[in-house]
Amino acid sequence: NVRVRFAPSPTGPLHIGGVRTALFNYLFAKKHNGTFVLRIEDTDQTRYVEGAEKYIVDALNWCGMPYDEGPTSTALSTSSKSEAFGPYRQSERKHLYKQYADELIASGNAYYAFDTSETLDFHRKDHEAKGKTFIYNWHNRLKLSNSLSLSVEEVKAKLDAGDDYVIRFKSPQDETLHLTDIIRGDIKIDTNVLDDKVLFKSDGMPTYHLANIVDDHLMEITHVIRGEEWLPSLALHYQLYKAFGWDAPEFAHLPLILKPTGKGKLSKRDGDKLGFPVFPLQWTDPKNKEVSRGYKEDGYFPEAMVNFLAFLGWNPGTEQEIFSLEELIEAFNLSRVNKSGARFDPDKTKWFNHHYMQEQDNTILAELFKNSRSELSEIDVNYIAMVVGLIKERATFISDFWELSHFFFQAPSSYDEKASKKAFKDGTKDLMLELVSIINTIEDFSVDTLQTKIKGWITDKEIGFGKVMMPLRLALVGALQGPDVFDIMYMIGENESIKRIEAAIA
Ligand code: GLU
Repeated sequence: NVRVRFAPSPTGPLHIGGVRTALFNYLFAKKHNGTFVLRIEDTDQTRYVEGAEKYIVDALNWCGMPYDEGPTSTALSTSSKSEAFGPYRQSERKHLYKQYADELIASGNAYYAFDTSETLDFHRKDHEAKGKTFIYNWHNRLKLSNSLSLSVEEVKAKLDAGDDYVIRFKSPQDETLHLTDIIRGDIKIDTNVLDDKVLFKSDGMPTYHLANIVDDHLMEITHVIRGEEWLPSLALHYQLYKAFGWDAPEFAHLPLILKPTGKGKLSKRDGDKLGFPVFPLQWTDPKNKEVSRGYKEDGYFPEAMVNFLAFLGWNPGTEQEIFSLEELIEAFNLSRVNKSGARFDPDKTKWFNHHYMQEQDNTILAELFKNSRSELSEIDVNYIAMVVGLIKERATFISDFWELSHFFFQAPSSYDEKASKKAFKDGTKDLMLELVSIINTIEDFSVDTLQTKIKGWITDKEIGFGKVMMPLRLALVGALQGPDVFDIMYMIGENESIKRIEAAIA
């Protein structure tokens, strides 16, 4: 029975790296008929950001991957088992953690430490000056203020006096830990390089490490799928499971997402700097009101984003690139996730969006288009849908539509200068007048008849097609671009076609 969790800290908007982690968890859960849990890791109150949790939930829902269990107030899912495993915000589970910290102290796996931040800073700087890194471990422990260096009475006195303390994990000396990661295989770690990490603080809050392990255990998580940045914590997490006597879940650490250049980790700042979104949804910083762009608002379809994210670190091992969410669930496999960093490619995201644009229903696109332009408010959506059908092949975003189609709705207000020089020559005016009279004779104003009649007339006259088609297109569109001229004429109708031709030669 597979149970996975996405466990973000509500410290701001989700970066696409976070969304990718959520997606891989989601795919793995669904592939194995398992459960996808959302747990909000908000133990660090100093980093808490207003609105971040709602953003996370909204982003998951927009991507089409709602959680099965999670903070119920906002859950879309009907199968919330919050009674058994909840609550799902760590701040609401606060009362749970202290007993586990105490248990580790009782079993000799953790200890109290009373060092001030000044003392620790002093040691860090002192080591740095000697070109070394200060590690709070067996080597340094006894020089510091903690229950391994102080007497029982001293410790009791400090605790009774209400002194600030932390509870640290006691990492063993001279041991080699053997860790396993589904993606990276076996990893060996020398315990002498490990810090005695803080598990609990006297403000009553656990740190990430303790809360994360306790909750994964209590929530019966079977697989921990998370970003590579958590790999350095794996040794401690293994030791914690061992110290508690619990079975550890399986771990899979996903590769980093790299900048488009391939050099360095993709950062939140790269988006605004280089002009592409790194957030699923737009985010307004509650403090400085700064707005960061989102995929949704930039006009991406969630299907395109999901498809694109799936390929950041995973591939199906075939040539197939287009995958619906359902197909991804079917094809996904952690053993096909790479170890090496995945380069983020903004152009590829656009390529996916262009693809999904072609698959979208024209009426749905027409509604979106209509809502995006005041010029279209009075226009029948069926007409807009027909226009969309003619132009979407050349569009990546809905926001490209107007540029590609305004002449279906409005006569040109000017003519492209270079194109005019090319299209309007001596004799063009007479040709256009003759064309108007031909058009006037057409009774059945269909694309086929227009084409047959006009092309037939040009052939009979033995002049080049360009001589007619170029000025005609310019008259209709205002430029030498756009879809098939006969499609345009048919769409705007006989009267409007004639009006535009006459206006162009007036
Ligand atoms: N709260 C951690 C984060 O923000 C969770 C890491 C993990 O999945 O263990 O990513």
